[in-house]
Amino acid sequence: INADSGAPTIFDKIINKEIPSNIVYEDEKVLAFRDINPQAPVHVLVIPKVRDGLTQLGKADARHGEILGQLLYAAKIVAEKEGILDGFRVVINNGPSACQSVYHLHLHVLGGRQMNWPPG
Ligand code: 5GP
Repeated sequence: INADSGAPTIFDKIINKEIPSNIVYEDEKVLAFRDINPQAPVHVLVIPKVRDGLTQLGKADARHGEILGQLLYAAKIVAEKEGILDGFRVVINNGPSACQSVYHLHLHVLGGRQMNWPPG
């Protein structure tokens, strides 16, 4: 499990289309693409196109309020597009003890199967 070094991540290459991804939704501020190692029939990552210090949610500042809202709204749009509005989960892993591995803030949108609670 990685720590937050502040270094650029693989998601920059995805944003810049230097490596391919399966894009589900995109707008000026937000990119949503399928997770390469899906944990559910639908598993989409929603990320800000500009990281702006948001390596993890725990680094959020008041200035990030707008983009945080846009990311959450994009998660809803993704759920709608994927046909899972009746039941889906949005997850943010923050830091090593939560198994965060990529230090560019991302929301996991998961669905298409029964999601159990509590998570592991
Ligand atoms: P985290 O563990 O940081 O919450 O989630 C990172 C997610 O990024 C993991 O679910 C992992 O499968 C996904 N991921 C890592 N590298 C790539 C990649 O190159 N392409 C895609 N589409 N997903 C990736």
